[in-house]
Amino acid sequence: MLSLLPPRLLQRFGVLGVCAALLLPVAPAQAQVSNNRLPNLGDGADVPLGVERRLGESIAREIYRDPDYLDDPVLGDYVQSIWQPLLASARQRGELTPELEQQFAWEVSLIRDRSINAFALPGGYLGVHLGLFSAVSSADELASVLAHELSHVTQRHIARMISQQGRQGPMVMGAMILGMLAASRSVNSSSISAGNALMVGGQAAAIQSQLNFSRDMEREADRVGYGVMTEAGYEPQGFVTMFEKLQQAARLNDNGSFPYLRSHPMTTERISDAQARQQLLPKRGAVTTTPTHAMMSARAQVLAKPGVDVLRSIAAQATPSNLAAANRPKQAGLLYGATLSEMQQRHFAVARQHLAQLQGLSGLELSAVRAVRLLAAELALASGDADQAVALLDLKATVLANNDRATRMQLARSRVGTQKPAQGKLAANELALWLSQYPRDASAWQLQASAFELQGDALRAIRAQAEARAMELDYGAAVDRFKAAQTLAHQMASEGKLDGAGHMEASIIDARLRELERLRREQALERGIN
Ligand SMILES: [Zn+2]
Repeated sequence: MLSLLPPRLLQRFGVLGVCAALLLPVAPAQAQVSNNRLPNLGDGADVPLGVERRLGESIAREIYRDPDYLDDPVLGDYVQSIWQPLLASARQRGELTPELEQQFAWEVSLIRDRSINAFALPGGYLGVHLGLFSAVSSADELASVLAHELSHVTQRHIARMISQQGRQGPMVMGAMILGMLAASRSVNSSSISAGNALMVGGQAAAIQSQLNFSRDMEREADRVGYGVMTEAGYEPQGFVTMFEKLQQAARLNDNGSFPYLRSHPMTTERISDAQARQQLLPKRGAVTTTPTHAMMSARAQVLAKPGVDVLRSIAAQATPSNLAAANRPKQAGLLYGATLSEMQQRHFAVARQHLAQLQGLSGLELSAVRAVRLLAAELALASGDADQAVALLDLKATVLANNDRATRMQLARSRVGTQKPAQGKLAANELALWLSQYPRDASAWQLQASAFELQGDALRAIRAQAEARAMELDYGAAVDRFKAAQTLAHQMASEGKLDGAGHMEASIIDARLRELERLRREQALERGIN
């Protein structure tokens, strides 16, 4: 079956700009293929964590290069606000061991795709399609999907598949997974044509039989995931309502906009398990949509690039009569969506009217107030008023939460947008603090490069660009940039333009270059292009 795969599949998918879900369907015709070789649940220990992580990195590297990979700090923070409590819960329960936590990435990527999907990759890399945000109506439902995927990783289900496929070699496995990701993308997605999707789909069908989460694995991910999410404080009801939504969608929908259903068939068995589990718990509150969730769902809809007709219809929904009939969360969602849609169409005056209405809503929770403030700054910057954007976010009186990445990124972007060297310096300093805590943040490095450029500090700008490439796992490009920085440092030193701090920077560059050259050699060995 593997002979159906072209030898340079991995590279080709990179060119197509493809990624998406680890589709692991359990259709009866395919389930028979490898089930008899399945080790017992809980196995997978024979695949070292480092091997799984490196396989994950080879896939993540392609995802970062995909034009539909989206680093949106606002939606990213929302996902993190759900993801971090789930990780803490899994840690508490003992499923996330210190070793697993340290060796894996535990990163959730956003994919600009309107289909409803979430996936787990080797090495603790996870992904969520933007379509999922609008399909779920609460953080609890989103938590139930993420907890399920998290549990596939902690229960080493992926390791077990790797050991089954071990004789194929990790690169073939990586290529197969990329093929599965490709097949899950919307056919009308911007980066993949219908013809390619069909072709990829055909290959994917052949591959699916090789990459199966078994029914038992799915049930285990449901059971463990349910424990993880409820112990993290989410409503158990969210697990059940998510299942009901998927089941209903399965009945109505067979057009590929629910790739999650292909990998997670809603068997009556899974649903009754979930219902039985929920009945064991004391009755708690119902799942409710918060203003924050409604706004994040509207944001995901707009950022999924739905086309100008959909943008217009999103904006047109915020009518006085619709608003009058809506409850507070719905109002927040309508106005947020309308503001952002008009902004994307560069109708700034209308966008400001919707924003003013949104700002006038009373009784919003703190996280919703923050989302509105960020939107105001985004609109100010987009319409050319970077100074106002800075003023909106540079609130000395507000203590910024340690993990408030969106405010930091938006503030830095706005400071750079003013084109004032003094603002560039502030941005570079603030980002340096952030990067000392989160050194793997590629977008923050890239933004820091712009801040250094604004100050005329070419050496640090090139080094920051190099770090950005390194954090995207593109070691070849990183080495090129570090070499450029080294050349510049030598030139500056020979001209007597390097001060003490400059010499320090130059020695960091030398050390990082040696490290990246080593990583690049390892990467080349893994790809077999020695
Ligand atoms: Zn699953």
